[in-house]
Amino acid sequence: MTQIIDGSTFTGAADSQAAIEQPREDVVLSSVVSPQEDAPSSDTTDSAASADLETTPATVVPEAETPPPISAFAAFGLRRELLDGLAAIGFEEPSPIQKAAIPELMLGRDLVGQAQTGTGKTAAFGLPLLERLDAGQRTPQVLVLTPTRELAMQVAEAFNSYAACMKGVKVLPIYGGADFRDQIQHLRRGVQIVVGTPGRVMDHMRQGTLDLSGLRSLVLDEADEMLRMGFIDDVKWVLEQLPAERQVVLFSATMPSEIRRISQNYLKDPAEVTIRQKAADGRRIRQRHLVVNGPQKLEALERVLEAEGSEGVIIFARTKAITLTVAESLEQHGYDVAVLNGDVPQTQRERTIERLRDGRVNVLVATDVAARGLDVDRIGLVINYDIPFDGEAYVHRIGRTGRAGRSGEAILFLTPRERRFLGGLERAVNQPIEAMEVPGNASINQHRLDRLRQKLTTALQQPVCNPEERALLGEILQRVALEQSCSPDQLALAALELGLAGKPLLLQGEERWGQSRPGAPTRERDRDRGDRDRERSGDRRPFSDRNQERGEDGPEDNMERFRIEVGWRDRVKPGNIVGAIANESGLAGRSIGKIRIFDAHSTVDLPKGMPEEVFADLRRLRVMNKELQISRLGS
Ligand code: ADP
Ligand code: MG
Repeated sequence: MTQIIDGSTFTGAADSQAAIEQPREDVVLSSVVSPQEDAPSSDTTDSAASADLETTPATVVPEAETPPPISAFAAFGLRRELLDGLAAIGFEEPSPIQKAAIPELMLGRDLVGQAQTGTGKTAAFGLPLLERLDAGQRTPQVLVLTPTRELAMQVAEAFNSYAACMKGVKVLPIYGGADFRDQIQHLRRGVQIVVGTPGRVMDHMRQGTLDLSGLRSLVLDEADEMLRMGFIDDVKWVLEQLPAERQVVLFSATMPSEIRRISQNYLKDPAEVTIRQKAADGRRIRQRHLVVNGPQKLEALERVLEAEGSEGVIIFARTKAITLTVAESLEQHGYDVAVLNGDVPQTQRERTIERLRDGRVNVLVATDVAARGLDVDRIGLVINYDIPFDGEAYVHRIGRTGRAGRSGEAILFLTPRERRFLGGLERAVNQPIEAMEVPGNASINQHRLDRLRQKLTTALQQPVCNPEERALLGEILQRVALEQSCSPDQLALAALELGLAGKPLLLQGEERWGQSRPGAPTRERDRDRGDRDRERSGDRRPFSDRNQERGEDGPEDNMERFRIEVGWRDRVKPGNIVGAIANESGLAGRSIGKIRIFDAHSTVDLPKGMPEEVFADLRRLRVMNKELQISRLGS
């Protein structure tokens, strides 16, 4: 039996309406739920649907019988304590995967579910398994395997929140890095639900400290991630050790053949549920890309953050080293940044995620591994600072935003060379990823003004100072007004300027970000960073200035001069050339020498002895949409 359902996320009231109007048997028996039959079409507007909802229950639940308002979850036949738990955490309507999976799992069936992150899988298996729990049995009845420790903790927390009103339910997360003996103690005292990573679970099984003889259900959460992380043999080993009579539930965002095989070999006649990413859901996350040369990424990032920054930003970088560079640079620009990579110890990771969740940290710079399964609702923007390795990774990354029915933004940085991967990513999300430009001064300045206006409004509505302090401030104002005989407007202006704390209100001058030498600070950043940086990096003036100083004679000794077929006519600037060449050749920006731009061509000095392959690559390289056609300018 396969259910294929369009629409991965909670379309809120519209879903519940379907659930309420459909007798429960229909949900269980229908083998294929087509989008028309079940999922609300995307043109159902929320307001219309919720208006319907308010008027619907009377026809379904006679008021006299059940006075308290009945949740759509009640239709599954979940016990009262669970419904109370759900009400407490604000779950009102089941998501599509919950609607499809819960009835099957309540019957004790095996199940294979394919759905992206953020679709509500945890409750889809958590609720029915809790419903079937035997509180009297002291050995573990449910085991959930997750790819990461973070996910194990999240799932365990979710179980605890659903079961908050149930008596005697013990949930234990077990993962590496946490104290082993502590876990053994908990297991001895009696636990019904264990959530763990494969490695640590196996350790306990081997040692005999985790007794699975009474296990009723095993859940493989994010199975494809477990495969990607190399846990698949561990998972099989665990499966082999389980009692013959058990329920197996497998959830995965994608279905690689390896996962299919597990499902065929270890699951018995599983119900299959596929939640197709509906276009409308994908559109909840607005996805854009911008093309930027490698050396200019940092500055482009700062600009994007300034112009597009929202509450809660995750920046994905490819390596630990890059996460550090990026975080350091953002910190210097006054952002509250945290880093999450494989080097960060477990305890600190948990604290970091907590800080991100409650807003003490606004920007998280992470590698893929460290951010797997991360579930923080307040992420409004995901930046792919480095391109992900494949479509799946892209889907996982952008899935960090637009959670729990909110809308989100995703911005992908591509170097000119990486452009060719865009199509693959678009296919993975089944929608175009629009192009955008690195934000210019105008939009950054507009954003700054908007933010200032917002801050001023907040300050007016929610004063920071206590009444006595405010009285003192008022006195100061009066006194200055008298002494200077100025108007309240003039005073307010002066106070606002004071609030800028010496930082310029607007980004001034030409748009130098594309012209500056790779990594070179703009004038404003020079001021921010001070002399330390200047010392470290030597001359940081733009190329054009240096050209004039050096005169127009031949290349320096260790350099060779090349001709490229792009010039003023193409509106090329030295920064474009440096950026493109540095990016393509792997040369450090500072080892690229003098550049002169002529009408239809330019010259550039590069270190002698460039390898032939690099030379060939550079020939095909495009700048300002023209092939460089680089050639040696004989000496
Ligand atoms: P997945 O495992 O598919 O990635 P989660 O189970 O982590 O998704 O759920 C994603 C988010 O949606 C969580 O914050 C969760 O609390 C919330 N959520 C899940 N189901 C519901 C629901 N029925 N109503 C409201 N919020 C929900
Ligand atoms: Mg999950």
